Amino acid sequence: MSKINLNVLPNHIIKHMIKPYIYCKCSCCNKEVVNNDITTKIYMKEYKTIFDDDFYVYYHDMEYYEKICNECYVNKLNHNMFPIKKGT
Ligand SMILES: [Zn+2]
Repeated sequence: MSKINLNVLPNHIIKHMIKPYIYCKCSCCNKEVVNNDITTKIYMKEYKTIFDDDFYVYYHDMEYYEKICNECYVNKLNHNMFPIKKGT
């Protein structure tokens, strides 16, 4: 298999036509991240005790991320946030 040398392509083609397929912006940290390393359309909510019956009922305090990078996602999980549903 031959390797593609991107350096022979003009900069504007790389920037406007190739990069958007490879990178996207994380809705949480605003950093440019590789497209494969993200979770899309996810609703997160802070975990409360399981005896709190309202946990899956009220959505007013949930956070929605169109695109969230793995680093932010793991950080949310480590700070008591859980994915509650996927957007469509
Ligand atoms: Zn992020």
